[in-house]
Amino acid sequence: MSHQQWIAQCIELAIDNASRGQAPFAALVVKDGSVLGEGVNDVKATNDLTGHAEVRALQAAARESGSRRLAGCVLYTSCEPCPMCLGAIYWSGITEVYYGLSIEGQAEFSDLPRRQYAEFRRAPRERSVHAVQVSPDGIDPRRPFLAE
Ligand code: ZN
Repeated sequence: MSHQQWIAQCIELAIDNASRGQAPFAALVVKDGSVLGEGVNDVKATNDLTGHAEVRALQAAARESGSRRLAGCVLYTSCEPCPMCLGAIYWSGITEVYYGLSIEGQAEFSDLPRRQYAEFRRAPRERSVHAVQVSPDGIDPRRPFLAE
């Protein structure tokens, strides 16, 4: 199938997901021309805020393949990945992603992904989420890694 056909399939899955009262997102992980993992957004159904379509597709592909490393696979998604999903894609080793609607295009419906990407371009101290390093007395924060 062509990239256009895979994206069309994602959009159909997203429409179907929306018809069931869920958010209108779907993704596919494809390996050698076959679907290895399919995912739809299930945040509303599960109250799991990580239940984005791309994350669910990556999880399904990892289960199917028996490996969290998905290098060589291609991810197709109905919308350009948000920062969380893009991070998960990096962890998977996938280096090829195709999407339907862009982040800019999604802004008409939800501006959050665009604002998140803008946040990441700011210096850490200027972000709305304050992540502060704390050094506990007497405990080396590298200790969990050294225990391996
Ligand atoms: Zn996402």
